[in-house]
Amino acid sequence: MKIYTSRYPPVPLVHESIFTNLFRTHFAAHPPDAPAYIDAATGFTLTRADTRDLSLALAYGLRHAFPSLGGVLLARGDVLMILSPNSIAWPVMMFGGWAAGLRLTLANSSYTPREIAYQWQDSGAKVVLVHPALLPVVLDAFKIIHIDPAEARRRIVIADWQLGDAPAVPAGFVHMAELLDKGQLSEEEKFPGEQAHETTLLCYSSGTTGKSKGVETTHFNLTTVLDMAAVLWPKLSSQNPRMLGILPFYHAYGAAKLIAFQLHRGIPLIIMEKFEPVAFCRAIHDYKITQACVVPPVCVILSKHPAVKQFNLTSLEWLFCAAAPLSHQLLLVVKDRLRSVGANVSLTQGWGLTETSPTATLLPAEDDLRKAGSVGLLLPNLEARMVAEDGSDAREGEPGEIWLRGPTIFKGYLNKPDVTRDSITPEGWFKTGDAGVRDSEGYYSIVDRLKELIKYKGFQVAPAELEGVLIEHPDVADAGVIGVYSEEEATELPRAYVVPVRTLTSAERASFVAAIDKWVKSKLARHKYLRGGVIVVDAIPKSPAGKILRRELREQAKAEIAEA
Ligand code: AMP
Repeated sequence: MKIYTSRYPPVPLVHESIFTNLFRTHFAAHPPDAPAYIDAATGFTLTRADTRDLSLALAYGLRHAFPSLGGVLLARGDVLMILSPNSIAWPVMMFGGWAAGLRLTLANSSYTPREIAYQWQDSGAKVVLVHPALLPVVLDAFKIIHIDPAEARRRIVIADWQLGDAPAVPAGFVHMAELLDKGQLSEEEKFPGEQAHETTLLCYSSGTTGKSKGVETTHFNLTTVLDMAAVLWPKLSSQNPRMLGILPFYHAYGAAKLIAFQLHRGIPLIIMEKFEPVAFCRAIHDYKITQACVVPPVCVILSKHPAVKQFNLTSLEWLFCAAAPLSHQLLLVVKDRLRSVGANVSLTQGWGLTETSPTATLLPAEDDLRKAGSVGLLLPNLEARMVAEDGSDAREGEPGEIWLRGPTIFKGYLNKPDVTRDSITPEGWFKTGDAGVRDSEGYYSIVDRLKELIKYKGFQVAPAELEGVLIEHPDVADAGVIGVYSEEEATELPRAYVVPVRTLTSAERASFVAAIDKWVKSKLARHKYLRGGVIVVDAIPKSPAGKILRRELREQAKAEIAEA
């Protein structure tokens, strides 16, 4: 069996909680009064010490004050949901939850009540920290799962928070600000030794097949990935590095790479609620941003949008792109355009999965042109196999499924031992479902996705979930969903093949398609909308065992798109 190792020496393994690691082990490496998080819109700043103290205060509030305010009792290991768009409150919510010894499940802030209800029940969440604008979504979710209004109030903390602002508390609900002024936990919950292998984060991923599942990320996974990623993370020339935080914090990429990793490196994170081209360029200008983590559709916008020419972007040194493939051509266009406005930017990719905590490979900044298109080198401590369809080693330099082993591989899918066994071999190899090639220098490129997963602008769309929703429609007999690629937007778009319960006239088809589109929009978050189209068919191609033959659907889509 051919096992590839990283070219970098392994980093020491760390057995402690992620909170202890960041706020004790590594804390003194940077001044306590250095800015850690800055709200881009207002300039409001949290220093490293503020972040630590507020997190310990929230931890105290959650564990000790919340019950006396009518909330449920939270014990070590209980699950706390965070449902909020990006905000300066996020680091305090995350670190506060961790200091309290809770497991955090991060929910997509565009989820519908049905999706929140699923994640709430599946994760076993006990309490949710929710942005006030999303409170109605949570209350509707609770209705679906029969949590009555009185009980709902015991399980909700309103999380709109800025220091100094008088919080607008909806009547009868506990507000996070009330939990912050009751005291401070003198010490965080500790997870030494074997306890570091306890789960601390439950982000949701569909893995290679089926619906979304809770990915059990441990303290050990997170503490180790910080040190591993630091080895390949570029050393920037700027004396005053600043990272722009536009990726959603509820995704593992945002939570680990932005909130946790930037604190570890002592680099201030400028927080934006979401990506918007003018605000993005303005923030680079105003805050002299040196680096940003992005996804391919952001690169498309940077290649065209006039805002790139309206602001001074010359402070920018590095863009790190991940979560979906970035084409070689787009990479060059973006670099050229930025250079034309005086910004000499290195643009490199990384690759990873929620299940790998999340970064697995990184392309060093200095290789951005020489290895353009590659997702880079394995992080230290990781081993890889390239596996052919029959389970043997792929031939050197030829595509194979990438299997990974090492300290950042997740523990398993929550309460799904069978799926975990299918995903991680007894020897510890995690089957990523991505096909890649490894060149003779050890650089990896992703060439295909072997699993069902569709990614819309870096967000996961599980075909199985969409198919389930489509089949619930009374006029649908069967459905199959695949992704079709849009060059223009640099993303896949979900496309549904739908079999109606009865034969439709051509006049009826148009209203059927419109009804299906509307149905999906009423039930699922925006990134799952059927932007790739709804196609009416007589049958879905299936194997004798009843498995949807997605490859056939993909071929069919290619032919349809070529014809159109
Ligand atoms: P997630 O768990 O949401 O981060 O999704 C992980 C999946 O995103 C991977 O299995 C890949 O299919 C895809 N992905 C992430 N980064 C890249 C990349 N740089 N190039 C191609 N696909 C990527």
